[in-house]
Amino acid sequence: MRKSLKLISGGRVLDLAFDLDKPPVMDVLIEGDRILATGEEASRIAAQSERVENIDAAGKLLIPGLINTHYHSHDVLLRGSYEQLPLDIWGLYTHPANYPSLTPQDIRLRTLLGAADALCNGITTLQDMVTIIGSDPIHVESILAGYQKSGARAAIGLQIADAAAVDAVAYWNDLPDGVRRQLPGASDPAGLMGLVERTIEDPSDARVSWVLAPSAPQRCSDALLKWVARLSQDHDLPVFTHVYEARSQVAIARQKYPDGSLLTHLERFGLVNSRLTIAHGVWMEEEEIRRFGAAGGNLAFNPMSNMKLRNGFAPIVAYAEAGVNIGLGCDNCSCNDSQNLFQVMKMFAMFWGFQKQAGESDAARLAFEAATLGGARALGRGHELGAIRAGYLADLVLIDLEAANYRPLNSALRQLVYGESGQNIRAVMVGGEIVVREGKLVGASDSELKEAAEAARARMEAEVLMANVRYQSMMEALLRAYESAEQFSLPYDRFSMRR
Ligand SMILES: [Zn+2]
Repeated sequence: MRKSLKLISGGRVLDLAFDLDKPPVMDVLIEGDRILATGEEASRIAAQSERVENIDAAGKLLIPGLINTHYHSHDVLLRGSYEQLPLDIWGLYTHPANYPSLTPQDIRLRTLLGAADALCNGITTLQDMVTIIGSDPIHVESILAGYQKSGARAAIGLQIADAAAVDAVAYWNDLPDGVRRQLPGASDPAGLMGLVERTIEDPSDARVSWVLAPSAPQRCSDALLKWVARLSQDHDLPVFTHVYEARSQVAIARQKYPDGSLLTHLERFGLVNSRLTIAHGVWMEEEEIRRFGAAGGNLAFNPMSNMKLRNGFAPIVAYAEAGVNIGLGCDNCSCNDSQNLFQVMKMFAMFWGFQKQAGESDAARLAFEAATLGGARALGRGHELGAIRAGYLADLVLIDLEAANYRPLNSALRQLVYGESGQNIRAVMVGGEIVVREGKLVGASDSELKEAAEAARARMEAEVLMANVRYQSMMEALLRAYESAEQFSLPYDRFSMRR
């Protein structure tokens, strides 16, 4: 007995296996949540079957749902709140510990708001490194409920760390006592470890998978990293962590570890392998990049937040040449501040072109690959996500080729990577189900979401003001520490886009 069939007919299919300039017009047949067949086979099976729902895609471009390989849902309610700030200072303002009054309903709401933003921009899978306060399972249930309501696919990692801020950020130990006392201290991760162990056992719903999310090597004790490595190995779970995001993180690595390297430190625990994705990697040295590639590691490239937080330019060509798989991330809602992978694809192509010799001609294809299959591979799911092929999950985005920026159609690929903003998305499908139609989330009304978002943000106002006053008062000292890290002597430069 067949599950329900849907035929998406007459669209042009953009997949790395086909012509990317003038993608072939072909049918895509969906059974349940997966693609059953494409092309002539899809048309043939559909013609022989009863009860096939037809979705007319004539004049549309079908692309695989985009995969946001680095994201945090915990600061969705703070989007647009900050100008450009150094990473560690921005991190103080936005840390969820400043906003303890958020209820489980608020957590569900912020998850839903972030997922809605992503889905409307064609992102069907989010890797969410989410920070919760404490270890109450109701917070996890709220996150799950938010994703479920949205229809998005999520690979969730509960972010975990236990080091004091002054031990994890370069030169913060030299801050005046009055400032040091107000910074987040060391914490006991036992409760959260227990919660993580219980949640990864939970099959939950089909659109949710679990990953491990140690915040960053320098923010975790040896015991915590050992625990992550064991769990990853025993349960074959991907690990996502921040590595060399800022220049100051090279300084802390050199000061904190005998071998002076965050990568070597991760290697000590057996964490550097194909299950590992590092976010950012801006300041990794070329020799470390080669080792990382040889171990089969993955990079989540986040050019928007890397520039907004003054971190510099990740050497993506060096990563690719070392054999590192690259996915794309939008990062937080308060440091990018948009969940739009079209912008990130375009930035990838720009970075790539600048870092290569003149005459490079593959940038758009590689950007598209990073936003789709690259992200899927980082999640360990390159066999079922990120392409429009039989057996793959039916996560699809329908784009209007009659829109202004596709007239004339010279290259669907380049017009998508360099010219699309997301505004021409007509429908988004996750697991064979339409979740966005004409720019609107199907699962919740815009007016309801808007009203709830404004109300939740209004309830946070006192805490937002308190955090602003607290960190503004220490800004001068924090900026001095930042300047010290900027002065730390290094034989290479990532504020220059070229190698
Ligand atoms: Zn991050």
